[in-house]
Amino acid sequence: MKIFCVGRNYAAHAKELGNATPEAPVIFMKPATALLKEKYFFLPEFSNNVHYETELVLRIGKNGKAIEEKFAHRYISEISVGIDFTARDLQEKQKQKGLPWEIAKSFDNSAVVGDFLNAKEYNLQKVNFKLMLNGEEKQNGDTANVIFNFNYIIHYISQYFTLQQNDLIFTGTPEGVGQVKAGDKLEGFIEEKKLFEIGIK
Ligand code: MG
Repeated sequence: MKIFCVGRNYAAHAKELGNATPEAPVIFMKPATALLKEKYFFLPEFSNNVHYETELVLRIGKNGKAIEEKFAHRYISEISVGIDFTARDLQEKQKQKGLPWEIAKSFDNSAVVGDFLNAKEYNLQKVNFKLMLNGEEKQNGDTANVIFNFNYIIHYISQYFTLQQNDLIFTGTPEGVGQVKAGDKLEGFIEEKKLFEIGIK
């Protein structure tokens, strides 16, 4: 199982981190060991500034390579909401040096994924998702606002990497990212359905 992530796919978020709007999808990966399997996320020793990034997550339903955009929707079996945890302090250092982001993005338990919903029951071009932090809404996104739509992202990724059943794609965060602290409770929603609840330790 591979986890792909799209960076800077919402203009307001790219702007809040001082990045330009990208001309092509920004793709990075997390290994399978990044998937959080518990109900708690333990703040890692190596960072003093771990951020939540709340994202719509796609699950791939069948294998494919060089997928045409017009057929890409057939490869999305399920959707969920997740967190792309990011060690923002490490990421800033890596960015300044022009080095890869993996240590800031792909560490153990950095990928939270909620329960899955059948993709066919949603219009993927208009799905609302949100994050509640300690009962307060911190991020509210709508897939209508993405820079690169999901069909194009699948087409783009599959030119370089064979997509396999159960691969996941984090499709980018809207604005409103922020730091997590010990004792925080994070809840992720698609529309009114709560799909994950995790505690920070
Ligand atoms: Mg992200």
